[in-house]
Amino acid sequence: MALVVQKYGGTSVANCDRIRRVAERVCQRRRQGDDVVVVLSAMAGETNRLIALAKEIQSPPDPRELDVLLATGEQVTISLFAMAAKTLGFEARSFLGTQVPIETDRAHGKARIKNIPGERLKEALAQGIIPVVAGFQGVTDSGSITTLGRGGSDTTAVAVAVAIGADVCEIYTDVEGVFTTDPNICPQARKIDRISYEEMLEMASLGAKVLEIRSVEFAMRYGMPLHVRSSFTDAPGTLVVEEDASMENILVSGVTYSKNEARITLSKVPDRPGIAARIFDPISEANIVVDMIIQNTRAGELTDMTFTVPQGDYDQALAIVERVAKEIGAESVAGDTSIAKVSIVGVGMRNHAGVASTMFRILSEHGINILMISTSEIKVSCVIEEKYTELAVRALHEGFGLDKAE
Ligand code: ASP
Ligand code: MG
Repeated sequence: MALVVQKYGGTSVANCDRIRRVAERVCQRRRQGDDVVVVLSAMAGETNRLIALAKEIQSPPDPRELDVLLATGEQVTISLFAMAAKTLGFEARSFLGTQVPIETDRAHGKARIKNIPGERLKEALAQGIIPVVAGFQGVTDSGSITTLGRGGSDTTAVAVAVAIGADVCEIYTDVEGVFTTDPNICPQARKIDRISYEEMLEMASLGAKVLEIRSVEFAMRYGMPLHVRSSFTDAPGTLVVEEDASMENILVSGVTYSKNEARITLSKVPDRPGIAARIFDPISEANIVVDMIIQNTRAGELTDMTFTVPQGDYDQALAIVERVAKEIGAESVAGDTSIAKVSIVGVGMRNHAGVASTMFRILSEHGINILMISTSEIKVSCVIEEKYTELAVRALHEGFGLDKAE
């Protein structure tokens, strides 16, 4: 008999029919003898709808009141779910963030979980009740409702699983698991059976959208196994677990891409100590996250500086850089939003040489020019022209043999 936390996302609880179907799944699991705690998202689209409502009244909305509003989305699904379970002959009880309680700091809209006393959930389980917990929400020490940030139900689920000492945290979604790349642009993409936390983190931050990044960090910190799977089939999904020796034999586990990138270049910057700080301090003060940075030295004590930012921050970053360029005497500033980043990820890279050069060769064989490169222990990223994204992803997926069965 296992203790399982099951989290269902917005599409899995999008309407009453689906809520009933999910309740049947949970009850089926109970009949098999496992104990289940359920964590739910709001119905698909509901959080967006509530945000739009708030903005009709006040823009930007008051952060405390917005959290009170957003928390209603999950209140709807957990109560309906508990009713559905009762119609199937099981006892279920909904728990709001304040009732568990999910204790967080006071950062409205992006609160961090500080502690979850598991007693109430364990008491309910001991009485044969299925606890149904509202995802995405918590409560501060002064009793205010908070939310954890978009997609935060995944983090709720992992944190609850850790708090009650669950054997596994199952994340149910509308896809079968984590794929070797985006099946929408590469039909040969395969479901990955097992992947390490670290690879999953890289894949999640590089654009694979199945799991919220924070939930993976949480799971990794506490060694909680994650099972990402579909709520529409019974097939096993992807297990996200601690790295083991067998994973090292696979050089590349996945190919990811992001079109949400923009590039800014300062040319002929006087090469003096402190120049990088002059450029990047105001950018970070504006809360803009810089991803890749490349500096080339030119003759005559001049240097070029190129870096990437999220496309949404491009205009603001460009304005800052144009101002700084004048102050420090750089010759010119240029920018480009039609770029993309393609990356390969795999723990096997740690012990195998030549993975990066293979990537460069594959791209060149397809006539794709590399604009920037960055590497870490388990990933290599290349910035390319955006129009080549799909071609690059398919070429890398095939070139590293990801289309073949494991
Ligand atoms: N309902 C929230 C959102 O849409 C939390 C979640 O679904 O994980 O962001
Ligand atoms: Mg989600």
